Parts: sequence; C-alpha cells; structure tokens
Amino acid sequence: MKESQKYWNPVLETLPIEKIRELQLGKFKKIFKWAYDHSKFHRKLYDAAGVKPKDIRSFEDIRHVPTVEKSMMRDIQGKDPFPYGDALCVPLEEVTIFRQTSGTTGQPVYQPDTWQDWEWWMESWAYILWAQGYRPSDRVFIPFGYNIFVAFWAGHYAAEKIGCEVIPGGVLDTKARILKIQELRATAMMGTPTYILGMAETARMKMDVDPSKLTIEKITCAGECGASIPSTKKRLQDAWGAKVYDHAGATEIGAWSFECQEQPGGMHVNEALFLAEIADMETGEIIEEPGRRGKMIITALDRQAQPCVRFDSKDVIEWAAEPCSCGRTSRLIQGGVVGRADDITKVKGVLLAPSAIEEVVRSVDGLGDEYEVVVDKVGDADQIKLRVEVLPEAQDQYQLIETELQDQLRLKTNLRYDLEICGCETLPRYEVKAKRFKDLRKQKSED
Ligand SMILES: [Zn+2]
Repeated sequence: MKESQKYWNPVLETLPIEKIRELQLGKFKKIFKWAYDHSKFHRKLYDAAGVKPKDIRSFEDIRHVPTVEKSMMRDIQGKDPFPYGDALCVPLEEVTIFRQTSGTTGQPVYQPDTWQDWEWWMESWAYILWAQGYRPSDRVFIPFGYNIFVAFWAGHYAAEKIGCEVIPGGVLDTKARILKIQELRATAMMGTPTYILGMAETARMKMDVDPSKLTIEKITCAGECGASIPSTKKRLQDAWGAKVYDHAGATEIGAWSFECQEQPGGMHVNEALFLAEIADMETGEIIEEPGRRGKMIITALDRQAQPCVRFDSKDVIEWAAEPCSCGRTSRLIQGGVVGRADDITKVKGVLLAPSAIEEVVRSVDGLGDEYEVVVDKVGDADQIKLRVEVLPEAQDQYQLIETELQDQLRLKTNLRYDLEICGCETLPRYEVKAKRFKDLRKQKSED
C-alpha cells in the first residue's frame, strides 16, 4: 500500500451512488437469508411479520423487515447455545472471541465473533484510519486498557494491518502514557474525547508538559459524540496541536462511520459495508431527505456470527445535503451522531439534547472541560442544575462567564439553568466514557 494512495479501497470508496445501492441491496438479500436460515431468533421474528427472503426485491421491501431492539438481544442471552442464545448463526466452535457492550443503558449484551468477523472488523477500521491520514510511517499510541469491550482492539489491529507501528499503552497510568508518547515520538493516538481532554489536562497541570508541543499529529476519537461537537473538537485540537477525527461504531454493529481528512462537519457512513436508514422517531417513516433528524436503523452487510440486521441503534442522525469534497461517494451524516434517542428528554416542555449543553460549555473561554448536568423536579417544576469549572486564570471573571454562559444556553437550548460555578478540578473525572448528564426525574419514577 503506497503512502500517497488516497483511499484504502479505491474501488468501493468511489463507486457511483447507484452502484453502491445495487451492492447494498444484493448484500442485504444475502445477510437476511443467512440470518433467516441459520438463527431461530431471526426466523421467528420474520415469520411473525410475514417476511421471507424471497420477498426482498427492493429497498421498499427492506422497510418491511422488522427491526431488532437491544432488549430482544438481552432476552435471548444466557440460553442455548450458551451464552449467546439463538441469534447465533454459526456453530459455537467457530466463535473465536467474546465481547460485550458497556452496559451504560442496562444489562450488557454479549457479542460473539468468528475469525472471519474479526477480519471484517479490522478491514472496516482500516478504511477509517486511512481516511484520517494514518500511513505506514505513523507510530500509533493507544492509551487504553483493552478488555471485554471492543473499544480500540480493532483500531489497534487495523493500524497494524495498514502498516503503522502500534504502541499498546494499556496498563500505564496517564502520566506514564504521556511520557511514553514523548519518549517514542508517537504521531497518532486513539481514545474517547473525555479521556484525551483529561490527558491534556494532566500533562499541563501535573507534569508541566504542553501536549501541543508533543509529536501527536492526529487523534481518532470514539465512544462519545465529542469529536463532532465543534467546541469540543476545537478544545481537543488546540490542546494537542493535532487534527482530531470522529468515528462512531458499536459492539453490536461494527465500525460503521468515520470523519475524513477534509473534516466536512460530518461523518461518512461506510456504505459498502453497512446499510444505514434513518427512521422518524414518532412515525417510524424512513427519511431520505437531508436535514431531518431520526434514529438510525442499521444493517452490517457482512457480519455473520451474530448478524446485525435492521438494528435499532437509537443513534440520532441526519443526512447531509452535499457529498464530501474528498471524493468518497458514501453519504455523510451532518454533525456526526447528534445524540441518543434515549438521552433526548423533555425539560419544561422543551426537547433537550445533552450534546447542546456540551457545545455551549466548551465554547465559553475561561471554563474548564468538565461539567455536570442534573435535571430534577422541584415541586411541580423541572429544574436544571449545571455545574461548571472555572480555570485558575479566569478566577476574577466569574460574572462575565456566568452571563455569557446563561445567554448562550438560552439561545441554543431555550432553557434557563441554575448555574453553579466551581473551582478547578472539583468535578468528577472519567477514564473512559463520561456520565455528565443525570436525570433524577427518571430515577425517581423507576424507584
Ligand atoms: Zn470525505
């Protein structure tokens, strides 16, 4: 693979759009038949809806295939073939790796993969890394402890696959990771936005190291929406003096999207490997036009052990109006994944997406990177408490910061907040995914 080659797969990444659709339809028919023929779970679901493999002739027909919810996967696991249950499409002895979801929204879901599936994971990550400028000359540091979650395993192996040199920084603590980056002059890195920002803070405040003076040139973020939120992306890029790219993927789905080097304000869906559909959150109608948000229904077109066929991902996305200037023909989703259908909540009758608060907090000068939102009911009224941290150099500007924050929040979210401005480093820090948004109303109704 030549360093100068622009695309990882020059054929698939530049296919005319009608050819992509043809490929997707053909692959969908195959994976649907595979799931129908090899898994009791899928056959029962499709028989109940009266949809058989021979019925799929067009994209319109695909819309009649029932979606799979995470809760359905939870219900079958723990049963035979143990522990995956009957969505498994291959004999147990062909499964080579176990992983599970992080369980932030409930009991974790198990995910088996065969060796072939694992090679598919690596291949899909190779598209991502190549599009973000990773080349064989890169030295990639992964500041992440691998475990039962899929996070960064495939990124690691894909980096090796494209010829990079990989430094697994797993068991090191944050300071040791920074020193290792410095010592080995790593050029690229992968992590969650929360952790990558936290690393920069540790370097600056506890080690007197300016991370922007280190050798990191590009960072791939995943696991949270941050790298697609403009103010968070800016903080990440300024802190590290590096280009920061977003990627969204999931254990049950695969690595389905990536931001390219053009940074077009959105992410490509890897349409040669995935079929993404956007469903209206109220009516379920499939949205084709740009600019209308809905939740993503997604199919991994080549994954076999536990197929992902029309999975209701709950990721909220919208199609971009224009194709990307990088020449890839796959569609872009505007602004990346803008939230989770589960997280978007009504406060005082107004729809609130937690990412909108993040966008504001990170855009105000003088505030630290951390914040915390608590929604509660006081009497009959909803109340939103927002805690932020002020940086040491802005201690004398409390009033100014408070006014700007309140104005921007009102403008972007149409809501008023009960603000609490805290000292530096008083809010919780997170190692992987942050839990900054708490809705106590939900907890009360569940008690
Ligand atoms: Zn592009």
